[in-house]
Amino acid sequence: MEINWIEEAQKRKDDLIRDVQALVRIPSVRDDDGAKPGAPFGPKVAEALEYMLRRGREEGFQVKNVDGFAGHIEMGEGEKLIGVLGHLDVVPAGDGWTMDPFAAEVRGGRLYGRGAIDDKGPTVAAFYAMKIVKELGLPLGKRVRLIIGGDEESDWRCVAHYFQREEMPDAGFVPDADFPIIYAEKGIIDADLAYRPAAPDGAGAFTLVSFQAGRRYNMVPDAAEAVVEGAGRTEELLGLYEQFCRERGVKGSIRQSEGAVVFQLEGVSAHGAEPERGKNAGVYLAEFLASLPLDGQSLPFVEFAAAVLSDTRGRKLGLAHRDERSGELTVNAGMLSYSRDGGGTIGLNIRYPVTADGGAIRRTLAETAARHGFSLSRFADTKPHYVDPGHELIRTLQRVYEQQTGEPARLLSIGGGTYARALTAGVAFGALFPGRPDVAHQKDEYIEIDDLVKATAIYAQAIYELAN
Ligand SMILES: [Zn+2]
Repeated sequence: MEINWIEEAQKRKDDLIRDVQALVRIPSVRDDDGAKPGAPFGPKVAEALEYMLRRGREEGFQVKNVDGFAGHIEMGEGEKLIGVLGHLDVVPAGDGWTMDPFAAEVRGGRLYGRGAIDDKGPTVAAFYAMKIVKELGLPLGKRVRLIIGGDEESDWRCVAHYFQREEMPDAGFVPDADFPIIYAEKGIIDADLAYRPAAPDGAGAFTLVSFQAGRRYNMVPDAAEAVVEGAGRTEELLGLYEQFCRERGVKGSIRQSEGAVVFQLEGVSAHGAEPERGKNAGVYLAEFLASLPLDGQSLPFVEFAAAVLSDTRGRKLGLAHRDERSGELTVNAGMLSYSRDGGGTIGLNIRYPVTADGGAIRRTLAETAARHGFSLSRFADTKPHYVDPGHELIRTLQRVYEQQTGEPARLLSIGGGTYARALTAGVAFGALFPGRPDVAHQKDEYIEIDDLVKATAIYAQAIYELAN
């Protein structure tokens, strides 16, 4: 039977857009204060999950909410299971948007909003793909399950909880990254370095009272703030700071508050897997502070942040590594905080190539930290993920992609972070097409509506061919 997949997707375009908009309008940022049984990531993540499951029920699928951690929408019969994994939680909006990040505006062929491309649009595309296969009445020899998580952007407690209770698909794909196909994902480490100064040391013309930048391991901080005491020299500081910001190409402001000087710096946010695409506001502000005659207690903290963390390849941490399959190790300083009374913490997000060893990274990191007055206080390691290029799953997805786009389905490797690694045999498959800018986790995030429809068609054929 010849099926015109893109035409089938086009027919459902208006409904598809409506569902993505409805989900973008739910600001499903994780909210630990609002967490309760059935809504472990707060009320908005629960609301987004429930919206999607309700849509599944309305369309006649089997649905299940697994304690609010995750849920699924299923169709078909058979022993074997094909999985499609998406997520409905989003990172915070961040600063600098030119529109409301949760209004889901459609402008110039694009649907804007936090989560539009990561990962609400692609998750809804996969849902419509199932809907197309179902409505065409195509025979399936396997079951197909869209699994929807609520904690992908933080700790992956969603899939951990889900797969403790529900079966592992025999094979699957994840619409949460790039087309064509991602077969290798780096290992991911979240690590905390704690700074505990030995004894207060008053030397220095200025005292750092507090320092704060970043809210997530996996985002480059786009704002940093420091409070410095040592009044009477505000004019001089202003001049130095203006010059610094000009030279580095970042925006800064300075104001007085209760005898102290408050420095603010605006950088550029980016995904933690590609820290070189951003400008780390925390590292820049630390660099400026390290140039001042600061008190002896805070100086090692800002010097470490400025000198060691400015290199996103981890060379100064002694961690540099690269391989053919997956590229270079990267380091993002996602959270930096310090207070005069409480010491400091730096939260790192490290992505390491598939041939590197997490245990060796842990030892080196602990040693380097110790030399600078820090200690390794947290180390969470997610191993790299890799699927053999000869696997039936990859061959099928390559064939579908090439048929629908006319482009070669090259195999890619990335810094990682998709649900593919939660599957025994899973690869990331879209929904960002080659050549499109990656706006995930950035201001003015959007998805091209034509791409949303095209992805729906590709997913529909992929689901059919994997499950028939
Ligand atoms: Zn995502």
